[in-house]
Amino acid sequence: MVEPNGLRETAISWLEMRTDGGRDPLTRDEIQDFEFDGEQFKLQSTQQGIRKPAGFSAALSIQTVFRRPGQERPYEDVIGDDGLLRYMWRGNDPTFPENVGLRNAMEQKLPIIWFWGVGMQPARFQVIAPVYVVGEEPNEQRFLLTATEPAADISEIDFSAHEFVAKRYLTRMAKVRVHQPVFRATVLTAYENRCAVCNLAHPSLLDAAHIVADGDEKGIASVVNGLAMCKIHHAAFDRYFLGVRPDYTVEIRHDLLEEVDGPMLRHGLQEIHGQKLMTVPKVRQDRPQADLLKFKYDEFRTAAKLDVV
Ligand SMILES: [Zn+2]
Repeated sequence: MVEPNGLRETAISWLEMRTDGGRDPLTRDEIQDFEFDGEQFKLQSTQQGIRKPAGFSAALSIQTVFRRPGQERPYEDVIGDDGLLRYMWRGNDPTFPENVGLRNAMEQKLPIIWFWGVGMQPARFQVIAPVYVVGEEPNEQRFLLTATEPAADISEIDFSAHEFVAKRYLTRMAKVRVHQPVFRATVLTAYENRCAVCNLAHPSLLDAAHIVADGDEKGIASVVNGLAMCKIHHAAFDRYFLGVRPDYTVEIRHDLLEEVDGPMLRHGLQEIHGQKLMTVPKVRQDRPQADLLKFKYDEFRTAAKLDVV
């Protein structure tokens, strides 16, 4: 069967709706629910990373399998200083149908879907769509992709004339559309959608807080540098009203402990002083790394004008 008209666009809109605008990760089963013209249509490959349905000239989707911290596969998802994302060929033969399919998607400027594993049991995927294949590095056996705004026409980006601007734009898009949502989904999945501090269980009120800030060189985008936190605890953590010791004990800044105010201050902050985190990931490798907590906790002590321990 040749690719039916409108299938790609319909699939991308359906995923947008099913993920609440790209926020919620989906299981394989949920992705399998997609129908086109009244029939189930498979969007995601079960075996390889690249899905090129039989008869289609261009690939439809790619996937990155979830890896626990310490099991990251090198080269697969690095953003180069050109702001482009990398995706490895299938195997090492450029003529494999899946590799040809991605090359054809590039030539035809077709949007594709990236399923990015963010958790296991069951496997969950962050959906990033559309993304575009814009180049290939045959010596490295990989493709180059961009995650521009859905509305942006990539053919209008003039890479030669405004190289610096284009690189900055692409780097920003890769962060906003790929790395930040993947980090958020990975952290929230590991914490089973609960605030580490207070256990609040509403994803729309939760963030993935970086322990060491994103801009810092230690501030890696890995679950071990993350804590799922509700909005108020996240803000309190970032602004040093709240600190977390490497043994997971929560501390509230001493001047706040003496303040008298309403229930948010009393229950939300003062009463958790000295308590342990209520939720940490079940899987040990996903838990916050002690040296990162220590780094942030020392900053908290400094900000609270206490001696650094
Ligand atoms: Zn909370």
